[in-house]
Amino acid sequence: MVEQWCIRVPAQRGEEVRRALIDEGALDLSLKVRRDGSTLLLPVTEQRKGAERCGFEPLPERLVLPRHELVGGIAIMQDHDLAGAEKILASRPSLHTVLCAASEVSGEYRTREFGVLAGTPTTRTDVIEYGHRFTVDLSTAYFSARLSSERQRILEQMGDHETVLDMFAGVGPFAITLAARAVLVVASDINPQAIILMLANLAQNRTKNVLPVLADAHHLTGSIPWRFDRIVMNLPLSGTEFLPEALRLCKPGGKIHLYALVSAEGEHLECIQGLGGEVIAERVVRSYSPGQWHAVYDVRVGGGVNPSRNSGGH
Ligand code: SAM
Repeated sequence: MVEQWCIRVPAQRGEEVRRALIDEGALDLSLKVRRDGSTLLLPVTEQRKGAERCGFEPLPERLVLPRHELVGGIAIMQDHDLAGAEKILASRPSLHTVLCAASEVSGEYRTREFGVLAGTPTTRTDVIEYGHRFTVDLSTAYFSARLSSERQRILEQMGDHETVLDMFAGVGPFAITLAARAVLVVASDINPQAIILMLANLAQNRTKNVLPVLADAHHLTGSIPWRFDRIVMNLPLSGTEFLPEALRLCKPGGKIHLYALVSAEGEHLECIQGLGGEVIAERVVRSYSPGQWHAVYDVRVGGGVNPSRNSGGH
């Protein structure tokens, strides 16, 4: 037996969570999933919220693959391991390409460079997520499969007839997911390539209530004539900079989901509360580097936010 971190889930949710963990690259594929009464224990590669330590049987060696992350038909490795890449490519018929990350996620568009290790030389692929198909191009626009459960979490919180603003929308995964319940989603991004992919994603998902906007989020208050029930701010490294704009664009009583890089719990509480937002929850989304993680702050907007500033809306 090998001791490892694991997530305990009701057996009937086992397959759904197993797939989500594989998409995140978080399932420890070298160990056998265990049943414990009516629950399943899914081994994960690192500690995460709610994880516990348990013993697992190792799987036969032929199934052990080098560490990688899956995004649709692409596997991304951190190491330049050509033999490992061939093994990964052969392991699933749905894979067409194995890439190696050649840079960190960087720049305003939050993209990274890749080298091709095996398969078709492309950074473009289709991701199926909870019944939606997202075409992504990993070298020209940001996309992370690891946020799939976050999108579902926000969708589940939505009421009927909401208007939503996705301030940093990328190729549209939050916008298209939330459009299923919203009246209208305004989805803005500063990267033209992300907007082009978003248009393709809107068409292929037959989503007709998302308004794509190519814009710098700093300029939205002066150009969008509405206030929103809900705002998604997924720009973890500098999203808090845009909080004053978001608070002005949100209706009193509305909600903001602010993703932020943190190195201590409650790091952004003072800033959010100082601007008039009420933090109703702070959750860990995923680890980023040793001692740093992405957190999401769910913020309720009070009636008295920035009363002296021009809201740019009604
Ligand atoms: N929400 C998308 C998702 O989950 O896939 C994309 C999130 S990505 C971390 C952040 C996005 O913000 C990128 O697509 C980038 O182009 C965009 N961005 C960066 N600075 C921006 C700005 N000033 N105004 C609007 N979009 C911006």
